[in-house]
Amino acid sequence: MSTSQIGVSANSDQVHAKRSLWVCPCPIALHCTGRESTCEFALTYTHAMSEKQSPNQSEHQRAPWDDYFMNIAQVVSSRSTCHRKFVGAVLVRDRMILSTGYNGSIRGMPHCTEVGHMMENDHCVATIHAEVNAILQAARNGINIDGSTVYVTASPCWNCFKSLMNAGVSRVCFGEFYRDQRIFEVAEQLSVELIHLPLKSSLEQAE
Ligand SMILES: [Zn+2]
Ligand SMILES: [Zn+2]
Repeated sequence: MSTSQIGVSANSDQVHAKRSLWVCPCPIALHCTGRESTCEFALTYTHAMSEKQSPNQSEHQRAPWDDYFMNIAQVVSSRSTCHRKFVGAVLVRDRMILSTGYNGSIRGMPHCTEVGHMMENDHCVATIHAEVNAILQAARNGINIDGSTVYVTASPCWNCFKSLMNAGVSRVCFGEFYRDQRIFEVAEQLSVELIHLPLKSSLEQAE
């Protein structure tokens, strides 16, 4: 037998195997003498299945980029260690994450959750805020954040806002308003976009 003959024989076997693998989904299954295209039950069943699948496929919607990164900021906030406010921040440029940060104590120092807060004028001053930690993480890794967007679960406090501006962040997306109105006026003066992206209820922040 020549090589080409072996090839032909194997191909026709495969075709036959493919055909014989089809099992009718009708109640008598293997005993059904109909083919995929002739058994009435099979035709109805296949039609019903395709009807069932197509709405699910069309319902699947990819998250828009802003929602995607804000959702990630919400996950980042779950690492916070000061329970007065859990905040997460993500620095992004060109749809790529540059760094992340959440509010927590100085590295190596005990967390508020372990030793309590360090209160001053009704604020806990033990922690470094999420936005500043995201800037610092980029600095530690030598990552340029100029022209980036920050996604932060709560609007920046005055100090964080100032740091973000001088770090070159050009767009601020926040999940909920926190406390400082000055950021709105100054962002406008600096032509920095300040966008409210309401948090998704499934990932809502703990106060
Ligand atoms: Zn604290
Ligand atoms: Zn802050």
